[in-house]
Amino acid sequence: MSENTEKIKCLIIGSGPAGYTAAIYAARADLKPVLIQGMQPGGQLTITTEIENYPGFPEGITGSAIMENFHKQAARFGTDIRWGSISEVDFTKKPFKLKTEEGNEILADTVIIATGATAKWIGIESEVKFSGYGVSACATCDGFFYKGKVVAVIGGGDTAVEEALYLAKLCKKVYLIHRRSELRASKIMQNKLFNTPNVEMIWNNLPKEIVGTESGFIKSVNGIILTNTITAEETKLDLDGVFRAIGHKPNSDIFKDKLELHPNGYIKTQPGSTKTSVNGVFAAGDIQDFHFRQAVTAAGSGCMAAIEAERYLCTI
Ligand code: NAP
Repeated sequence: MSENTEKIKCLIIGSGPAGYTAAIYAARADLKPVLIQGMQPGGQLTITTEIENYPGFPEGITGSAIMENFHKQAARFGTDIRWGSISEVDFTKKPFKLKTEEGNEILADTVIIATGATAKWIGIESEVKFSGYGVSACATCDGFFYKGKVVAVIGGGDTAVEEALYLAKLCKKVYLIHRRSELRASKIMQNKLFNTPNVEMIWNNLPKEIVGTESGFIKSVNGIILTNTITAEETKLDLDGVFRAIGHKPNSDIFKDKLELHPNGYIKTQPGSTKTSVNGVFAAGDIQDFHFRQAVTAAGSGCMAAIEAERYLCTI
């Protein structure tokens, strides 16, 4: 073994709720886990503001505070938490061989993948500026803050329609803004949407800019400027929040051809389990879940992955 190679029992890739929960369980089971945090330490929750639907926090908690707690709890039981990313994996031989971006080699008896997914960005500067302050990618997480207000959802797939239907129950009005003149979403979802009185469709439009006010750290959205994709005409809508729902991209690029993936790029796991197509490699959280995508479900599957990894280690 070269000096840049180390051998460990359990490697966890990713530091969202799934990765840290797997770490807490794996560390308590004495698997001495190493957790590589990835490009966005703390994961998607660090770019939301208040989390009010994670059980155990009756007053809510900010996304960054809850992830700091996850981190501390995993560290408390001895998880070796490291900055950086994994850039290469070889699951053809055991122990599994992984390379960090810095060029170090890790040989691991078992691997838990919790690299998550990333909500796609529309591609305009102002959505980044107001992210967490009027721009969100999760109605279930942030919809509550827009009770009685006017919001827009961007997109035309099942996620956009689902988000719009969820928000319609809370908000005074929901605009669904789509770049074409027909939705991609399933017909049954479309029927529900078109029968929801406080949803208004804005067809053939793309966001040009999200506008609002800014005073120091305090920012809020008060409108959106749209460009008609056919006439190029610009219009402004007054509203309080914008939900982007143009799809998620699973962070699975390095696992292509190494594990079985769904056609949409998410890692395939066995039903009711976190087992992937390679014995000894487990996947938890959003990287294998394109249905629920909640912090609490991710954490639950992280727990499952650690328990399954522990059982697997008893068999080798
Ligand atoms: P999706 O089906 O890929 O739809 C993305 C939507 O965003 C499309 O309408 C697309 O427009 C639009 N879009 C993409 N890039 C855009 C951009 N830069 N600017 C503006 N609009 C843009 O993604 P999804 O809705 O997240 O669904 C992903 C998968 O999960 C699908 O298979 C879906 O059926 C499934 N899903 C199922 C359920 C359910 O069954 N309850 C719920 C959620 C998701 P175009 O239509 O013009 O391409």
